[in-house]
Amino acid sequence: MFNGDKVVVLDPGHNGGNASHAAEINRLVPAGRGKSKPCNTTGTATGSGYAEHAFTWDLAGRVRDVLVAHGVKVLLTRQDDRGVGPCVDKRAAFGNDSGATAVVSLHADGSTAAGAHGFHIAYSAPPLNAAQGEPALRLARQLRDSMVGAGLATSTYIGSGGLSPRDDLGGLNLSTRPAALVECGNMRDQAEAAVLASPAGRQRYAEAIANGILEYLG
Ligand SMILES: [Zn+2]
Repeated sequence: MFNGDKVVVLDPGHNGGNASHAAEINRLVPAGRGKSKPCNTTGTATGSGYAEHAFTWDLAGRVRDVLVAHGVKVLLTRQDDRGVGPCVDKRAAFGNDSGATAVVSLHADGSTAAGAHGFHIAYSAPPLNAAQGEPALRLARQLRDSMVGAGLATSTYIGSGGLSPRDDLGGLNLSTRPAALVECGNMRDQAEAAVLASPAGRQRYAEAIANGILEYLG
C-alpha cells in the first residue's frame, strides 16, 4: 500500500476527436532523435468498429482504479475521450513535468498479417537518458511478466518475448521518466478483438497492467 507518495502517469493512446481533425493531428512535432512525427494519429479499430481510442480510454480508467486502491496517485494525459490529441511531445512533457515514477502508454495494434496476435511492450532503445536505461527496461519487463502471468499471449509478430526495443516512438524518445508503451493486442485479430472489446477482457488487461506497475513501484 502506498500513501500518495508515488505518482504514475497513464497515457491512453489517441483521442475521440482525432479522426475529425486531420490537419491538427497531422501537424509535425518533435519526436526525439532529431526526427519529427505527426502530432497524433487516429489509431485502429476492431472489424466491428470498436475504436482504439475508446479502448485505451476505458482501459486507463480501469488501471487507474486498481492503482488508486493501492494508494498510488494517478494522472492521465487526457481527461476525456472527445478531444483532439494531445500531441505526442505534449504527452511526454506531461509525464516529465509530473515527476512520475512510471509513465505507461496504453494502445492496441491493428495488424492485418494473418494470425498476428498477442501483446508487446515497447521501450526506448538505445536509451537517450538514464531513465530510459535500466528503469524503463525494468518497467517493461515487469509489465511483460505480469501480463504473461495473467495468461495473456506475447506477440507473434513484433518484438521478442513480449518486449520490443524502439527508436521511433516520440513519446518514449522524449521521456525523462521511466516509460513503456503497452500494445495490448491486435484489434484486427478476430479472437483477440472479442477480448479487447469486452468489459471483462479489458478488466483482465487492466489488472495485469496495474499489477506490473505495482511490482515496479515496489
Ligand atoms: Zn495506438
